Amino acid sequence: MIRLSYPQIGREEEKALLEVLRSGCLVQGPKVEKFEKEFAQHIGVKYAAATSSGTSALHLALLALNLGKGDEVITSPFSFIASANSIIYVGAKPVFVDIDETFNLNPNLIEEKINSKTKAILVVHLFGLSADMFKINKIAKKYRLKVIEDASQAPGARIGKRYVGSFGDIACFSFYATKNITTAEGGMVVSNNKMLIEKVKVLRNHGSGKKYHHDLLGYNYRMTDLCAALGLVQLKKLDFFNSERVKNAAYLNQKLFGSKLILPKLENPAHHVFHQYTVRVRKPFNREKVINHLWRNGIEVGVFYPIPIHRQKFYRASFGQEKLPVAERVAKEVLSLPIHPGLRKKDLDFIIQKVLEVTA
Ligand SMILES: *Cc1c(COP(=O)(O)O)cnc(C)c1O
Repeated sequence: MIRLSYPQIGREEEKALLEVLRSGCLVQGPKVEKFEKEFAQHIGVKYAAATSSGTSALHLALLALNLGKGDEVITSPFSFIASANSIIYVGAKPVFVDIDETFNLNPNLIEEKINSKTKAILVVHLFGLSADMFKINKIAKKYRLKVIEDASQAPGARIGKRYVGSFGDIACFSFYATKNITTAEGGMVVSNNKMLIEKVKVLRNHGSGKKYHHDLLGYNYRMTDLCAALGLVQLKKLDFFNSERVKNAAYLNQKLFGSKLILPKLENPAHHVFHQYTVRVRKPFNREKVINHLWRNGIEVGVFYPIPIHRQKFYRASFGQEKLPVAERVAKEVLSLPIHPGLRKKDLDFIIQKVLEVTA
């Protein structure tokens, strides 16, 4: 079986975990603090707070920005559900703006959805490619909106020399097992605003800055030292993992050039880190047929995402009437092929052969 994603865990990770297990400090401690410092440094931001997941990172980021009831937050309908859910967690309302061919928010459609209730834009850098942060930040500045980046799928992605996670007021990452680096479960909030990160640190620890003094309604969203120890080792490998992903994507693009699939662009204004290698299967080809052929041959593939968020059952009553034609169309066409750094050349060649058998 060629897996769609596979955590890249080696001896160094095993050693780091053993060290923490034997230290007697398993929960949030010195490893978490070190991971926060090194992660912030890597992204090029001043402050970071580690969390239990990417979802809790998003929840805390929105709370730190004081977003809540009566506020509207512009976001993408084509994402993992957590990005929109976090807006609902704080009592605010997601306002969906359609995407473009990059699978990210179409900046040209944002302004028409802004009104007096709009307080923020929650941008998702989907599949490892940055959204158009220059246009988005310009709009945010014009209307005085906060910008939250959901960079869960894009650690190490850049526009020029600047890393995603450093463009907004605050940004969130996920270290779930399928992401570009993993701590099993885990997340990170980063910002250049010290007060925001201090607030996140209080909120993740039951609203407590000083032990057993609870100034805010908080949560237990802490990361453990076990996870942080994994994260520290994985962070050192992030650039290598990403360059392997890009190399694999370049090879697939070169060999699938003759197929009738729409391939992802390698040369974007932004540097793509290929969390997913996502093609679009259009007529006369049938996505289900392609998927079945690949599965039958032992190639695991994925559809991210088959249903846009506004069409999910939980959202349908309030948002089902929205017309977001690009998100709705690509949800029917997308197909993600294995791209992770653990693939060998013969795996890639096999994937290419099997894809061409049904789409050439
Ligand atoms: C993975 C992911 C999340 C959530 O992260 P978890 O660590 O699974 O909670 C949020 N947004 C996006 C875009 C993701 O891909």
